Amino acid sequence: MLVKDHRDIHRQFKVIFEREGLDRIDERLSILEAFLGAETHMTSAELTKILNEKGVSVSESFVAENLRLFSRYGFAQEKKFTGQVPRYEHRHLGRHHDHFICVRCGTIIEFYSPEIETLQTEVARRMGFHDLQHQMEIYGLCSNCLQKREPAIPLTMASPGERVRIIGFVGGKGMERRLTGMGLNRGADVEVIKSSGPGPLIVASRETRIALGYGMAKNILVSMAHNTE
Ligand SMILES: [Zn+2]
Ligand SMILES: [Zn+2]
Ligand SMILES: [Zn+2]
Repeated sequence: MLVKDHRDIHRQFKVIFEREGLDRIDERLSILEAFLGAETHMTSAELTKILNEKGVSVSESFVAENLRLFSRYGFAQEKKFTGQVPRYEHRHLGRHHDHFICVRCGTIIEFYSPEIETLQTEVARRMGFHDLQHQMEIYGLCSNCLQKREPAIPLTMASPGERVRIIGFVGGKGMERRLTGMGLNRGADVEVIKSSGPGPLIVASRETRIALGYGMAKNILVSMAHNTE
């Protein structure tokens, strides 16, 4: 963003702070400054750390309160990506982008596709819907995490939403028979519904959901479905 834009926002906010009768204006302006100085998707904890390192001692709750204030006035945008704490990014009026979110490392990548944008509006119009705004979030694995993956991993290491192919079993013939009996055959594609947290793993094979204990699931070796096609 242009430095001039930021200076302008600074001036606008001073007026807003004073009009709202808010206290601690200097601290609020420091928070705004630090927020505008970083072109990322920040959590209130991350922004608090930046400020504390600069010698501005403010609490995380005060930073969070100000981030919500910036959002209310359209200077920041709150993003609630699935599985993550709220993040804030700059809101540049009239400019738009969408997001890829890596479910493995949490990396957020921005993208803009004029073709997708036009298509979305066309689809809306065709359905008699007038679109005002949208947020597109695509969850998956970033190129870094993809590279780091082993070609065969235990099912317990697959991420929710991933489609994987069963390529083998460990634990002997008895284990293979038990799993095959549940419909988990070598070569079958399954979708991972839940792979962590308490309770069993849940996978879907065609239309059937299958619950698997952790002990059993780690005996199933899988690869990404599209890699083996
Ligand atoms: Zn978009
Ligand atoms: Zn990643
Ligand atoms: Zn963004």
